[in-house]
Amino acid sequence: MPNDLIGKLKAANIIGRGGAGYPAWKKWTAVRDATNMPKYVICNASEREPDTHKDFHILKNYPEKVFRGMELAIDTIGGTDGIFNLNGEYYKELKSSLDVLIEEAKNCGYNYRIKVFEEAPSYIGGEETALLNAIEGKRCEPRLKPPFPTDKGLFGCPTLIHNVETLYDIARVAEGTYDGDRFYTVSGAVSNPGVFRLDADIPILDILHQTNNVPSEAYFVQAGGGGSGIVLNSKQIATEPVRGSGAIIVHSSDESPKKLILRWVSFFAQESCGKCTPCREGTYQLLQLLKEKKRKTIPWKEMEPILQVLEKTSFCALGRSVPIPIRSYLKNVLQQS
Ligand code: SF4
Repeated sequence: MPNDLIGKLKAANIIGRGGAGYPAWKKWTAVRDATNMPKYVICNASEREPDTHKDFHILKNYPEKVFRGMELAIDTIGGTDGIFNLNGEYYKELKSSLDVLIEEAKNCGYNYRIKVFEEAPSYIGGEETALLNAIEGKRCEPRLKPPFPTDKGLFGCPTLIHNVETLYDIARVAEGTYDGDRFYTVSGAVSNPGVFRLDADIPILDILHQTNNVPSEAYFVQAGGGGSGIVLNSKQIATEPVRGSGAIIVHSSDESPKKLILRWVSFFAQESCGKCTPCREGTYQLLQLLKEKKRKTIPWKEMEPILQVLEKTSFCALGRSVPIPIRSYLKNVLQQS
């Protein structure tokens, strides 16, 4: 069964739903084939990308499925330990239900050690290598990759890290009920916000139709998360699916461009862990430019060189993501009107 499951994950094209979209079967094969011990499995319920709530929805409504995904992963890779990483809010809400499942598994003779970890309170706390550092009791900041966690992860041992939705999908593949769907979080200027399960890879406009969320006034969307997601206009969403975390944030076209950009930049400046200069200084400089009192317009010319440095030289994906919403908003929305 365990080896067969890896083949099933490949056939079903199960990918990471935390944002990276990496094929699950490749990670499983790497950790299963690693020779050093022990081996760990981590379920990452950080979900600190703004306007994204599907992992909470899944853990709240289907905790036993996610737990089953964790058990299957530990069994298949020959692991010994499992860890649920929950952000502080989720820890308060969900720890007790996971503790019940852990006790039940013990009572059924399941001998592996599974525990719940409360994540360090920061966006970067959910980045997989920063998370490893935090669990080890070190400063919560990203590590250089390679080596990847599948090779040298927690305490230098092979570690399989999966998003909540990915483990949920894996449990459904094992029981034969997975049918190629995924979860979407829809929010913003809509009448029916929420978390919805629909076919994967359908155009964003179809998602808005199927969830009764097509706005009556002019709008655009941010797709993939309220921080790092790409901005698309209402024509583009007729063919584009949402990638990353599956979040769709609808904005009214009346929204103030300066306020919106300031919101993105403030988020990145606040969440920069400070480890590398381009991100630490770049996000700060962007914030100062946008906050200059005398300035009436958006300082695009002054911002672009900083965005280039962030994109090309940041140590991790947080810094490299800063240009994505800003540039796509300019190109796909502001320059189209
Ligand atoms: Fe930290 Fe930002 Fe550098 Fe990432 S890019 S390591 S978040 S300072």
